[in-house]
Amino acid sequence: MPQTEPMPSPSEERDPPQERARVILAVDRFPSKITQLLQSLEVIGYKTRVARNCAQALILTAQVPPDLILLDADLGGSSSYDFCSQLKAYPTTYDIPVVFIGDDTQEFERVEGFSVGAVDFIPRPLNMLEALMRIEQHLRTHQAGRSLQAQLADCAATVQQFQKEKQSLLLLVNVDALTQTANRRYFDEYLLREWRRSRLICGPISLIMCDVDCFKAYNDTYGHTQGDLCLQRISAVLMESVRKPLDVVARYGGEEFAIILPNTNLDGALHFAGRIRDNIQSLAIRHEHSACSTYVTLSMGVVSTFVVDETPAFLLETADRCLYQAKREGRDRICSLLLDQS
Ligand code: GH3
Ligand code: MG
Ligand code: MG
Repeated sequence: MPQTEPMPSPSEERDPPQERARVILAVDRFPSKITQLLQSLEVIGYKTRVARNCAQALILTAQVPPDLILLDADLGGSSSYDFCSQLKAYPTTYDIPVVFIGDDTQEFERVEGFSVGAVDFIPRPLNMLEALMRIEQHLRTHQAGRSLQAQLADCAATVQQFQKEKQSLLLLVNVDALTQTANRRYFDEYLLREWRRSRLICGPISLIMCDVDCFKAYNDTYGHTQGDLCLQRISAVLMESVRKPLDVVARYGGEEFAIILPNTNLDGALHFAGRIRDNIQSLAIRHEHSACSTYVTLSMGVVSTFVVDETPAFLLETADRCLYQAKREGRDRICSLLLDQS
């Protein structure tokens, strides 16, 4: 028999939703009008609940969210429509299918029911077989919608997981583990890309090659671990000294760093190189056995060009030549060249 007052104790409803029988809540001022329908639903395996008014229906819904609500269109005034609107406004109840039951002659009631979110309007007098089939159809559709939502949520979680993994892979592929600067692979790719862009817009591009002076002596004096720490501090200064994300700092080799400065002429590049030199000086990392200072210093080769038809390799070779000139001239200095390809 359909259950009316008293309300079900919460302990009756402890089963997880997927294991329990599906629950249909009928809201009707005169439950006797739908007793036969509810009995038929129980016979085919549903649990039924009956509320005589909206307040009771809300309590029952909060206790055990029903899988479908059969709502008398004539609860008095606009109560039925207000109740349905209320259900549709809450995230926990908005997707419960609401089927209005009412007088077939009341076209206004039908339209009003649909406008507040009902999925169907079953006319009185009830045709039992048709009513049962309609109810089951709505439950199937609702169930399909829910499992689709669950699948979508699974897909979204999988996509999110993939994106996280992609990010970690990109880091592994493009970033130097010790210094967190770009690695050589990313450097080559970015230099080629920016080289092509410069050629397209006939704009300048510059490159700075930096090498830590007397770094072998630093390792020999302070140990390899301190050497690693020193490289990390230097790379942090390099990254802070340039425009992100346009300029790319890369670890080019052991204690050598390269900086790509797109859309930058020689004056601009020398400005950045000077700033780097100042910032490294401010770090003031002691280096007792350096040949050129009592602190860690860098030598730098700076080259700038308006790309015409040379290759990025030519820019690199020239920056390297400037760097070795700086070394030859005594280290801790900047040597530069403007590559004029006109
Ligand atoms: P120069 O002024 O001519 O550049 O002298 P240098 O001693 O810096 O140059 P050299 O090429 O003789 O030595 C480079 C040193 O850098 C040797 C190597 O052990 C050290 N080095 C390279 N990679 C790393 C690293 O990842 N960690 C540490 N701690 N040392 C490194
Ligand atoms: Mg060196
Ligand atoms: Mg070197």
